[in-house]
Amino acid sequence: MKPSPLLLTLLLAPLARAQGDPAVLDRIIDQGKHHNQVMSRLHELCLDIGPRVTGSPKLAKAQRWAMGKFRTWGLTNIHLEQWGEVPVGFERGAHQVGRMVEPFESNITFTTMNWMPGTKGLVRAEAVMAPKTMADFDRDKVKLKGAWIVEYAGTGMRGPTKVEDPDIKKALDDLGIAGRIYGSQDERVWSHGTYKDKTFENRPTEVQIVVSRPDYDRIARNVGFGRKTVLEFQAENEWFKGPIPQYNVVAEIKGTEKPDEVVIVCGHLDSWNSPGSQGANDNGTGTVTALEAARILSAAHAKPKRTIRFILWSGEEQGLLGSLAYVKNHEAEWDKISAVLNDDEGSNYQSGYWGYAVMKPMLEQAYAPTVKAFPEMPQKFDVSSNMANDGGSDQAPFNYVGIPGLSCRQSGRQNYGHVWHTQFDRYEEAIPEYLVQASTNHAVVSYNLACADTMLPRGPKPAPKKI
Ligand SMILES: [Zn+2]
Repeated sequence: MKPSPLLLTLLLAPLARAQGDPAVLDRIIDQGKHHNQVMSRLHELCLDIGPRVTGSPKLAKAQRWAMGKFRTWGLTNIHLEQWGEVPVGFERGAHQVGRMVEPFESNITFTTMNWMPGTKGLVRAEAVMAPKTMADFDRDKVKLKGAWIVEYAGTGMRGPTKVEDPDIKKALDDLGIAGRIYGSQDERVWSHGTYKDKTFENRPTEVQIVVSRPDYDRIARNVGFGRKTVLEFQAENEWFKGPIPQYNVVAEIKGTEKPDEVVIVCGHLDSWNSPGSQGANDNGTGTVTALEAARILSAAHAKPKRTIRFILWSGEEQGLLGSLAYVKNHEAEWDKISAVLNDDEGSNYQSGYWGYAVMKPMLEQAYAPTVKAFPEMPQKFDVSSNMANDGGSDQAPFNYVGIPGLSCRQSGRQNYGHVWHTQFDRYEEAIPEYLVQASTNHAVVSYNLACADTMLPRGPKPAPKKI
């Protein structure tokens, strides 16, 4: 039986809502699946440039690199948009050495927090357990002078978890010590830190080294046995006079029919930087999937009806500073931003979105071509009851004001918790076939949403939230 034209129209009608030109979609899939360059971008970003702390020279270098890429692919309106400034700049230098030299030689995995001092060159000194009382201090004074003080307090993500007794702290600082040694929770060492209340002129002077738990246990055990335990550390931490303005990188593929309506594809370019980390999975991967989506769309000669805008945030790790300021400064555009696609959950494949039920049909249509091209990486839309409460990355500020801020959910074999904010966040931990899919999906979904009959439907208007 031949279907009637009416039935055909009815069958095809829903599909027409969020699909661009099928020929263009075929070219997008071909570019994304068979000519993908996402791993080359990740290599350039993470191995040639390195980790990118907000306010660091390497972040500025990465921003120039990203703009150059957008330029190469013919994007327009490429610019830096300032969101604020940091009071003082910081970079972890190349020389990072941690070793036990007595009673036997052994490397030590360690970090220091950002915007905290490093050592003055290579500092070799004996390890001594911290005094628990002032009586301990008085008894051990001679040994404590100039020593690495092994603290009993542990550390959390943001540094030591217990404040030292102020009298003991002052006594140690007055005496003069090499620095304090803390143990992390396990084999991971996290690198956070804050520039709050710091300037180049009043920067802190107290050296705090966080070593991995196995290293801490080895040091404490040897000191406990009464063995002479000698450690050496070199942490080259560099400071840069501020204030230093900070930026997001913006680039566009201009819409042909509704250029003032926008679909945003984004990820944060800034990262943390434990010695050994390259900021690869948080969030080099989210950066390069956005970049590669731009290249794919450009190579496929995609001419979306709405503008597709690419944004590489910074200040994410300091509290979504880049995206918060962006939303605030673009109030005039709030009604014209159809959707925000943010990729910041590691190096697994993009497996759908969370959002309001009203968004489901259009998004399912939008990602359908990727699912067809990568059937082993299924996608799913889950209904959220309150998008403003979902997730802690750069999509969140958009949801605060009712703009659909979609976090690209991820599935796959990567154990993101192992690498997140630690020394293990390296290029080699990224999973190439997943990033191929993720960058292709970004291109497919942004193109389809930018060509859809309407903007992505919105959920309930959120209660006003001060941003
Ligand atoms: Zn992140």
